[in-house]
Order: sequence, then structure tokens, then C-alpha cells
Amino acid sequence: AKNPVRVLVTGAAGQIGYALVPMIARGAMLGPDQPVILHMLDIEPAAEALNGVKMELIDAAFPLLKGVVATTDVAEACKDVNIAVMVGGFPRKEGMERKDVMSKNVSIYKAQASALEKHAAPDCKVLVVANPANTNALILKEFAPSIPEKNITCLTRLDHNRALGQISERLDAQVSDVKNVIIWGNHSSTQYPDVNHATVTTSSGENSVREIIADDNWLNSEFITTVQQRGAAIIKARKLSSALSAASSACDHIRNWVHGTPKGTWVSMGVYSDGSYGIQEGLIYSFPVTCEKGEWSIVQGLKIDEFSRAKMDTTAKELAEEKSLAYSCLN
Ligand code: NDP
Repeated sequence: AKNPVRVLVTGAAGQIGYALVPMIARGAMLGPDQPVILHMLDIEPAAEALNGVKMELIDAAFPLLKGVVATTDVAEACKDVNIAVMVGGFPRKEGMERKDVMSKNVSIYKAQASALEKHAAPDCKVLVVANPANTNALILKEFAPSIPEKNITCLTRLDHNRALGQISERLDAQVSDVKNVIIWGNHSSTQYPDVNHATVTTSSGENSVREIIADDNWLNSEFITTVQQRGAAIIKARKLSSALSAASSACDHIRNWVHGTPKGTWVSMGVYSDGSYGIQEGLIYSFPVTCEKGEWSIVQGLKIDEFSRAKMDTTAKELAEEKSLAYSCLN
């Protein structure tokens, strides 16, 4: 039998956490034959709720679940974890300035970086979900220098999946027949959902999404804004933010990272920029990536038109500004 993998979920008593932990325990993240031990962290005011989640995990009798650690102690939570999904963060409340939220989250991610650095398994893979996700991941990277920078990522897979969903709805096609959309940049409303390289498989084979939709107007405006603003649309409908789709996409992100992407298919991940596509180094930016043997690599050589270039630069600029705001909060 395989050794269990230790998976940390921070903010585990929250909305996304509640949707995510049963998915992990059922094998949606690491596969149906991979036993797991869940490490759940939350803050003191959520301790009782966290214990309730632990009780439900026991009650669900998941065969793959080999143990549950539920704690408010960061060091205990991080001990020997192989995967860390960082969902806990300070939400923006009414009347709060961007800088106030940033300041709270920068200090949380700085502290958690140190805990992961000290206590996690040396090859731990980190996925940051809590907003501002790219910048939280960057701070985590800066303050956990012994964790390889390739191991620190943020979630843009939800945006990627939303783009696949919009295309499949528009074409009345199966979502599993659509692939290779790209989310460039920040997990924010400046993200750029790009369909220029996307394809859809029909009875006549693989077709370009742009050619088959043949409505540049829709693709260049409504499609982009729908994906960018989908989070707000869910809040409006549900009176709560998206949790099941965020949790499911977090599982997709880790599963593809660990087990690889199918041949000919890429996914979007927020990763540390190496300067690809002219995006400055030192930002966590969402790129198209393929994964193999537990490592991602940025898809190279895609043709970028002027329209895309401008949008890719706008979202990079926002990330550079967030980075300097984050650093000003540290000082
Ligand atoms: P959620 O579980 O709904 O969201 C958690 C984080 O994920 C938020 O930062 C949220 O950003 C972000 N997020 C990223 N993508 C999405 C998406 N597509 N849809 C929704 N959210 C997304 O929040 P809860 O308030 O229910 O839970 C947060 C948990 O974190 C609580 O249990 C709380 O106790 C804990 N917490 C931990 C802290 C710490 O570790 N020090 C500090 C504060 C809270 P956004 O805010 O933009 O929605």
C-alpha cells in the first residue's frame, strides 16, 4: 500500500475549506488509490467549528483518510506536510482600504512561510488560494527561501475552468472537448482569459475555438468580462462566494501538478515568472503550463497578438503595484 500523503488546508473551517476537505478525502486531489492525512489549520475563533469539521470527516468514514490533525497551532499544522493549500486569509470587509487588507495578509503569509520553511517536508508543494492570491504566494516565497521557488504557486485554475465552461456553453459542446484556454496574470479582474490557442473537438476533429465561434466581438469583450466577473456573479446569486468551484479547481491544480497534464493539453497556474513572454521576473503570474513528473513548465513559443500583449501587460502592471504595496506593508 502507498504511504499516506500529508495535505495541509489552512482556513479549513471556512467556506472553501468545508467544500475542499471532503474532496481531498475522497481522492479528487491525489487520486483514488492515494491515502491521505489531512492537516487542518484555522484561527482560535474558528477552533470549535474546525472541530466540527473534523467530527464530520470521521462520520463520513472515508476509506482513503488515514488521519486528521485539526489545530490552531501553525507549527503543528505544517509538520511534515507534502502539500499545502493555503485558503485562510483576512477577508476584505466593508470600509477597509486595500492597504489594510494587504497588510493583514502580508503578515499572515510571512508567518506561515516561516512555519512551512521550518516544519513542512522539504519538497512540499504549495498552492495559495486566499486573496490577493498571487501576492500572498509571492510573500510566502520570499519568506520561505529554502522551499524551491518552483514549489510555490497560486490558483488561477478556477478562472481557467470558468473560461472552458463559457466556451462550452456558447458552443453547446462538452466541456471535456474544449482545451487550451489561458489565464494570464493576476487572479483579479485584470486577468486576461485568452482563447487564441484554444481548441474544441467536434465530429470533424480539432477546431480552433476562435474560428468555430466566429464572433470576435463576443470573444473580445463579453466572454472576457464574464470570466473576469464570474466571482461577483456567483456572490450575487448565492449571497456567498464561490466555494465548490474554488475547491474543485484547487484539486484540479494539484492533481495535474502531481500526476501531469494530458498530452497536448495545458492548464493555467500562477507561478514565479522567469521572464517568459516578457513578463518581468519576480512576480507570481498566471501562465499556461504543462506538468510532468511533479514539475510544471511554462508553454513556450505561443504567438501573442497586439490585443493580448496589452492585456497581459495591464495585469502584470497591477501585480507589480500589488508587490510594492505588499513590501510597503512589511516595512
Ligand atoms: P472562503 O473560504 O470563502 O475564502 C477563503 C479565501 O479564498 C479568501 O481569501 C477568498 O478571497 C479566497 N478566494 C480565492 N478564490 C476564491 C473564489 N473563487 N471564490 C471565493 N473565494 C476565493 O472564506 P471564509 O471566510 O469562509 O474562510 C476563511 C477561513 O480563514 C476562516 O475559517 C477563517 O477563520 C480563516 N482565517 C485565517 C486567518 C489566518 O490564517 N491567520 C486569518 C483570517 C481568517 P476573498 O476574500 O477575495 O473572497
